[in-house]
Amino acid sequence: MCGIIGYVGKNNNCVRVLIDGLEKLEYRGYDSAGIAYFNDGKINIFKENGKLENLKNKIDLSSSSNIGIGHTRWATHGKPKKENSHPHQVGKFTIVHNGIIENYGEIKTDLEKKGYVFKSNTDTEVLCALFDYLYKSCKDVLKVIKKASEIIKGSYAVGILCDDKKDKIYVIKNKSPLIIGVGKDENFIASDVPAILDKTNYYISLEDNDYGVITKDEIKIYNNEKLKNYDVEKFEFDADLMDKKGYQHYMLKEIHEQPDVFKKTVNDYVNTSLDGLIKKMPDFTKYNKIRIVACGSATHAALVGKQMLEEYGNVKTDVETASEFRYSKPFLNKDELVIVISQSGETADTLEALKLAKDNGNDTLGIINSKGSSIARCADMVLYTKAGKEIAVATTKAYSAQVAMLSLIALNLSYKKDLISTHEIKEILNSIRTLPSQMQELLSNEGEYKTIAEKLASHNDIFFIGRKVDYALAQEGSLKLKEISYTHSDAYAAGELKHGTISLIDEKTPVIAIVTDESVAAKTISNMIEVKSRGADVLYITNRLDDVEDGLYDKKLVIPLTHKLFQPLLTIIPLQMIAYEVAKIKGCNIDKPKNLAKSVTVE
Ligand code: GLU
Repeated sequence: MCGIIGYVGKNNNCVRVLIDGLEKLEYRGYDSAGIAYFNDGKINIFKENGKLENLKNKIDLSSSSNIGIGHTRWATHGKPKKENSHPHQVGKFTIVHNGIIENYGEIKTDLEKKGYVFKSNTDTEVLCALFDYLYKSCKDVLKVIKKASEIIKGSYAVGILCDDKKDKIYVIKNKSPLIIGVGKDENFIASDVPAILDKTNYYISLEDNDYGVITKDEIKIYNNEKLKNYDVEKFEFDADLMDKKGYQHYMLKEIHEQPDVFKKTVNDYVNTSLDGLIKKMPDFTKYNKIRIVACGSATHAALVGKQMLEEYGNVKTDVETASEFRYSKPFLNKDELVIVISQSGETADTLEALKLAKDNGNDTLGIINSKGSSIARCADMVLYTKAGKEIAVATTKAYSAQVAMLSLIALNLSYKKDLISTHEIKEILNSIRTLPSQMQELLSNEGEYKTIAEKLASHNDIFFIGRKVDYALAQEGSLKLKEISYTHSDAYAAGELKHGTISLIDEKTPVIAIVTDESVAAKTISNMIEVKSRGADVLYITNRLDDVEDGLYDKKLVIPLTHKLFQPLLTIIPLQMIAYEVAKIKGCNIDKPKNLAKSVTVE
């Protein structure tokens, strides 16, 4: 959510560095962008609404400067328009901000009484004015930042320039991510490390309530007025990351990476036996219940995981949406394990839910893709998924890596509790071995997904139905379609349809029925026949070589059969591909869908 970049160094190519960094951060927010830099002692500010390209067209990339800050915005307060874009300038201060100042309203009223007039509707301009106001009576910027942090409430990562300190960038961070990139005769600030990877892979992760000052050759970080010792970490860079490898979109590339991601995620724990699973995973058998808290697709991965943990791990599992959980009475028993799932490890609501569980004294486990992220640092235990960085905003490979990890936890519990036979273990090991090639097989059906998408693309409402794990997959399939193709769809527990929603089904309404869980297959098939009888256009997705008569659906898509623990990793592929093809037909911006951001660091 929003990208921040900053540069201070001996080189005069600051403008180029800022734009390069913003290009890599655009996935975090892209409704407007701006930069501010000092040149000949004067501050220059450029900002434009819309894509970064609009800003690029307005600036001279060769302008000379050795200090500046930049921002790509994901609006929270005030519409996406030029006046609301960052950087904001008030008096001697110019700032970029990621997050939300919750009490900006009262601060604004107060500052207006003191004579401040605001040009934007943002909370950020209010923060900037607060800095300026406090600076009038105390000319020490670090003290001003500290004082402001005692007044403001909310989440913020802020890059700050002051007209009186033309060789310094100031920062403060609370709940929103910010790192400092460490170079030679130059330093950087950024929302994440990839934004500066072509300059340096050494960085410092700021903790909540850290603030500091950065020059070209010095970094000072404070917390509560005390100078801090910090660790400089090294980011291991995968050079393939930004390469589309011939695919038209990052999303397509990432969908195709799933067989490899599965191998990498599973290889650490399972090879010719399940021994690694026991050695490398914590002991989960002591927990009587599991609570999984997550947002978006991670919640859908959790819903798949619930089925596996209950059926194979024999442990009651509840799934909650982090934004609801954090404000509800949690009713957590001490013997409950709280699992939080987040690709970025920075998801604001999930992080707060994790803190709540820790404050309650519960053991916590993070299933995280990004090493060193806030959630990874905060959780008691961490299991890393090996999806690699995802560039497309809509998740695919990170989702399936989360599902794979939850299945492994279920398997670990099942094995330790002695709930599976040697015969079934053999079957599972065999399924794990063959799954990547089955995934490849599904990925090669591009033509079929295109044909299905051509039919779906002209519809405004589409239904997904399924039971148990198939319902969880239906929810993710529906979300993918909504996210990237802007087509309204709904996922229903197949048995719920007749309790009202079936009234929405009429002639030619597309219904995608997912039937892979044998224990409820007959029931879902009956529900499928019910909608077909009411004229629906039914796509039947199944792993069954079954006996359902041709006339009871319009098209059947057969997916390979594997062990139940890993079946969802196959079922999800056609759902992702159909969403992708519909979005392509509709001409949508697939990698950067409107209004969405990759890492949601505001609540
Ligand atoms: N709250 C600020 C705004 O709406 C910052 C949003 C962001 O993180 O991009 O401008």
